[in-house]
Amino acid sequence: MNDKRTDQTSPAARDLIARDRRHVWHPFTQHGTEAEPTVIARAKGASLFDAQGREILDLISSWWTCTHGHAHPKINAALARQAERLDHVMFAGFTHEPAVSLAERLAALLPADLNRVFFSDDGSTAVEVAIKIAYQSWINRGEPRRRMLLAFDGGYHGDTLGAMSVGRGSQMFGAFRDLMCKVCVLPYPATFDGDDAADEREAGALSAFDALLTERGQTIAALIIEPLMQGAGGMRFCRPRFLKRLVETAQKAGIIVIFDEVATGFGRTGTLFALEQAGVVPDLICLSKGLTAGYMPLSATVARDAIFDMFLGDSFERALPHGHSFTANPLSCAVALASLDLFDEERTFDRIAHIHARHRDMLGVLAARTDVTKPRVLGSVLAFEVKEGGQYQSEQSRALRDWYLAHGLNIRPMGATVYLMPPYCITDEELARAYAGMIDGLDALASGA
Ligand code: PMP
Repeated sequence: MNDKRTDQTSPAARDLIARDRRHVWHPFTQHGTEAEPTVIARAKGASLFDAQGREILDLISSWWTCTHGHAHPKINAALARQAERLDHVMFAGFTHEPAVSLAERLAALLPADLNRVFFSDDGSTAVEVAIKIAYQSWINRGEPRRRMLLAFDGGYHGDTLGAMSVGRGSQMFGAFRDLMCKVCVLPYPATFDGDDAADEREAGALSAFDALLTERGQTIAALIIEPLMQGAGGMRFCRPRFLKRLVETAQKAGIIVIFDEVATGFGRTGTLFALEQAGVVPDLICLSKGLTAGYMPLSATVARDAIFDMFLGDSFERALPHGHSFTANPLSCAVALASLDLFDEERTFDRIAHIHARHRDMLGVLAARTDVTKPRVLGSVLAFEVKEGGQYQSEQSRALRDWYLAHGLNIRPMGATVYLMPPYCITDEELARAYAGMIDGLDALASGA
């Protein structure tokens, strides 16, 4: 494989990398073997620019966060305005306009009585909060027997302890097994375009769930799922009707249903939230990433009224003992509000539908390749498997990642899974470049170039 990397030869870039090497510990990084990080100097729209001004198309939206594009003038202005007025204030005993407005907006956008918004900082903490709310709600109700959590094989919900526990099916967290809480893992019916075993796998997952309910239904506190698409598990899809059946069965059995829409939220699957496509209402929903258009750390765990009511009472013991220094940070909330405005102002859903159609046009091209399996599209996400692609961080997936980066594309395969999840502002010309480069990378991999 060609291992030509981004040009980082300028004295300023060399200096920054040397300083980084001395003091920075990067996420998901083996510092013993990893090549030097790419210096990013600025970003605009769907593009990042390195220290030499070389463009890199951000085709995975910087870990799926960037929605409307980098450095959007309206979001920049909202951020600057808010910084002039109120940077931050603790959120216990205090409140402020951006947080209240954002809570109102989210409650109005979400269905039914998903009305009560608990703010935290990132996807993991949103999940952590949901797990704690679900768990404590059973204690507050006088049913402490319900302690078991249910999650799905291949699910990923973040890197804090509770979130890791429900993501144990992702095989990412072997070292921490003993620290995790009790979780049962259900099979996940990963489906794709032209999948003729989809019915069978869905039925298998649902009957595994039924069996578990019969065996120990009364001990289950909550079920967590990434609706319609498992992200880090490899962009694995499930169909809306499976999700609907699952949620209806769980709720009938009294189980609290948590939707982790940290990755799927804010348009990625074609609707603002994935739940809309299944026509179901979870009891708790976790939001982050696209919530602030990829600008700021912020997350929200939104609860139905009945769940919130279980925390009311005369004693602090019934209250949720949870909070973070930057809970409901005003700068983050102001950015989130500006981002929500843009969905209407820029007719973002038309753009998402357009990206979806362009992705679908690629399905035939991918299906015709002998080195590709399971090509699939959901909303603005295009994914497929490279045959014999190996595990997460395998040599092949890293080689492919490096090839793409050297050719101006930020595409980071997860093991055998290659995917595009671009910012919605991406232009037709940029998309054409993305598809051509994506295919060229596969050809280079096949020829060992
Ligand atoms: N849930 C899902 C579905 C995610 O995809 C992620 C992150 N990729 C998380 C939770 C954790 O979010 P964060 O990295 O912001 O903690």
